[in-house]
Amino acid sequence: MNLLPQRLAATAIDSACVSANAIAVVRGLRTAGFDAYLVGGCVRDMLLGATPKDFDVATEATPEQVREVFPRARLVGRRFRIAHVRMRREIIEVSTYRRALEQDAGGQPVNGHAGTSVSAQGMLLRDNDYGTIDEDAFRRDFTVNALYYDPDREEVLDYCDGRRDIDARQLRLIGDPERRFREDPVRILRAIRLAAKLDLALHPQTEAAIAPTREMLAEIPLARLFDEFTKMFLGGHGAATFDWLGRYGLVQALFKLPKESRAMAELALANTDRRLAEDKPVTPGFLLAAFLWPAYVARLALANGGQPSEEARERAAAAALGGPRANIAIPRRHSAFVRDVWRLQPALEDRNAHTVAATLEDRRFRAAYDFLLLRAAAGEVPPALGTWWTEAQTMPLEDVLAQLPAERTPRRPRRRRRRRSRAAARTTTPAVAPTA
Ligand code: ATP
Ligand code: MG
Repeated sequence: MNLLPQRLAATAIDSACVSANAIAVVRGLRTAGFDAYLVGGCVRDMLLGATPKDFDVATEATPEQVREVFPRARLVGRRFRIAHVRMRREIIEVSTYRRALEQDAGGQPVNGHAGTSVSAQGMLLRDNDYGTIDEDAFRRDFTVNALYYDPDREEVLDYCDGRRDIDARQLRLIGDPERRFREDPVRILRAIRLAAKLDLALHPQTEAAIAPTREMLAEIPLARLFDEFTKMFLGGHGAATFDWLGRYGLVQALFKLPKESRAMAELALANTDRRLAEDKPVTPGFLLAAFLWPAYVARLALANGGQPSEEARERAAAAALGGPRANIAIPRRHSAFVRDVWRLQPALEDRNAHTVAATLEDRRFRAAYDFLLLRAAAGEVPPALGTWWTEAQTMPLEDVLAQLPAERTPRRPRRRRRRRSRAAARTTTPAVAPTA
């Protein structure tokens, strides 16, 4: 191990770009007598000339000691315990230096210290044994993530040749790549996400370690996978990340999505990236609705040849959302969103006089309509259907109803007449406010 770091003058870091809150946390810890640095993605991003998303601090103080220095800090995480220090409106993640893992004679990680736990497959289940900064550097994932910035001396400590890889714009796992991916398969997803976001190459040995370890993705606890899902796809580079995942056979490994049913996912990701670029709100539910749509449609087709009943739809939705490793633990509020978006699709397709008004007023109308546009773009429904709903949102309800296509209920002319008269009666209700 290279225990003495290279000390690099951090001329590439403009200290004006560093979060004043993060610096305050570092100084607070130092004043209390604890060694502390900025570390991880923020240092990497600044050296690459990108804007950091958030700032992480590494320190020798234990989480409890961090809380003594910052009494309002919250200690979070069981697998990897850290302190969240809130400074004004920003949350700074403060992690204590971790100790190196115990290894057997073959270099495989084994259970050693009390705070660490390793599975039979070499997966790190818990990592809460504290150590020194040089041990901490080597337990990090990529060399470019193991750079420590000292805001007082304006200097970067480099234990793992991270600077070399910053200059080469590449991600290289620290240590033996296969072992490091097995130790924590989330690192495979982090490699892809960071490469796609920052336009970095994967070092050949890091890249080569993906194929032999990708089945380990199935071992990731579902809640952690959901977190990583949102980081991969709601960070503004979702479409590129998905593309990268596809290149390494990871879309199939993660979502059981065969190539031919990826169109909806790709369209939804492009839509989400565009909305983020325009500072519009986004939700994982919309992406999940698109990712799981092929599974849902397949279940419906299995359930029923003709028009599926509402109950059949419910069952198909439940199966698609919770099916064999669905493949992430979806928090309930998001799965409810997905169900709503799917539930409204038949009404959007039918444009039935009885349901048009309620559909337009449904609180999920806007999301379901956006989803219908995706389906139109994917060639699943005629584009004219999307256009019809686009216009319907801007018109008074009576005009919308008058415009219902005449062929809506061709086989039941009687009911149709009744519907028309009900529709006429509704013209006294106020126009639907456009939701656009
Ligand atoms: P960003 O915050 O921009 O998404 P990041 O690299 O800062 O990227 P974080 O999740 O904030 O990602 O992690 C902070 C740092 O903690 C990383 O840079 C890395 O040094 C370390 N780290 C995070 N996850 C892992 C992991 N699974 N294995 C090893 N080290 C990790
Ligand atoms: Mg970070």
